[in-house]
Amino acid sequence: MFSVKGGYRAGIAMVVLSATTLSARVFTDKAGNSYDGSVVNITDSVVTIMVPARGKFVKVPLASLSAQDRAYVESLGKRRANPRVAAKAAAKEAAGKTVASRSSRGASSSKLKAEYNLVDNFLTPWPRFISVPKAVHVRVVSQDKGKKRYVYHSPSFEFISDVALSTTIISEFGLMFEATREYCRKLPLSNMKAHVPKHQGRNRILLFESVQSYVRNGGHPNAAGVYVPSRNLILIPLQSLGVKKKGGVYNYDYQVSNSVLVHEIVHQLTDPEYFAHGGRGWFSEGLAQYCAETRYSRGGFSVSGVRERIKDYVVGTATRGGLGAKINAPDLEAFMLQSYQSFTGNAGVNYRLGTMITYYFFHMERDRRNLARFLQALKRGETGSQALKYLLNGRSFKQLERDIHNAWRSSGVVVNFQ
Ligand SMILES: [Zn+2]
Repeated sequence: MFSVKGGYRAGIAMVVLSATTLSARVFTDKAGNSYDGSVVNITDSVVTIMVPARGKFVKVPLASLSAQDRAYVESLGKRRANPRVAAKAAAKEAAGKTVASRSSRGASSSKLKAEYNLVDNFLTPWPRFISVPKAVHVRVVSQDKGKKRYVYHSPSFEFISDVALSTTIISEFGLMFEATREYCRKLPLSNMKAHVPKHQGRNRILLFESVQSYVRNGGHPNAAGVYVPSRNLILIPLQSLGVKKKGGVYNYDYQVSNSVLVHEIVHQLTDPEYFAHGGRGWFSEGLAQYCAETRYSRGGFSVSGVRERIKDYVVGTATRGGLGAKINAPDLEAFMLQSYQSFTGNAGVNYRLGTMITYYFFHMERDRRNLARFLQALKRGETGSQALKYLLNGRSFKQLERDIHNAWRSSGVVVNFQ
């Protein structure tokens, strides 16, 4: 079915938002309601559809869907390795004795703001170095060898593994998770999910010993990790991470990058409105990849130098692939407004272009407030072209293309939009 060696590692750049968001379409029910989105979860009787334009997840009984859509959803279910096992695992997961908060699960940013008394930070300076104290406390909550369930808590995360992890690994992971949260908190993007006070809304990460169980539980075989918005869950197989098995226990390998984890955690801490049409794809993936490309070491992120790292990622290196220093890009407006399915359909190119454009708005655009206004529009529920108007700020797309072209050209990358 899929090979762990051939192509699996190569999939790291193609980390997707969710295992099943590749199936975006317009669903219609018998009452005539339509849902433009992607299937994120299927049980025997209910399908959950992520509807970006509404910034939320909609649960629709399978029986109420049009015959065509029902057949489609059922075919998705069959394509999974074993949907019953997956559903059972999800139910078991939900029933597990954990203190992961329900409140942060898919909650809108305005709800979180009200609940935790949070404030926007669009106007704070861009961070240069972000760090958390190295002594992050990670608690072993439970270890059940029979049930293959090992639960650990850092202040803001709950991670659950199906295999025992060494003390070093859990403290290194805890440190990285908390540092990534701090990074998301310090970025002036008003991601409220990152501002939920510690201990009050633990975000869950599931770690799997085998790729098979990762896929069975909803992971995507071609992605090194996934974030499942409907469950506010990250799923990652240990093979994607810097770990090594030694004497029956997984240990930390400092030589291997854990940028996959950073990428997925950024998704998890990004407000759901930013995944709406207009931001979904180029910005949501660009932001996650921007953070993943930032140099991380022992609880600290150094933002200085990120331009060179992103340039390496975009242009390419012998080991990572890339687009070269002269890039032919599609029409910018079409690129920003394409469906997520189309975006991930050409992941190798689109993730890189999205990261370049996101970087442009972070550091090269003359007025950073254009980005803030765009994000605020998404939060108000203005999506698609309506939201992009704020990024343009009076310019045409052709003018914006020229601005991006000129800015990156002076950094040694030529991007020509069609
Ligand atoms: Zn992603």
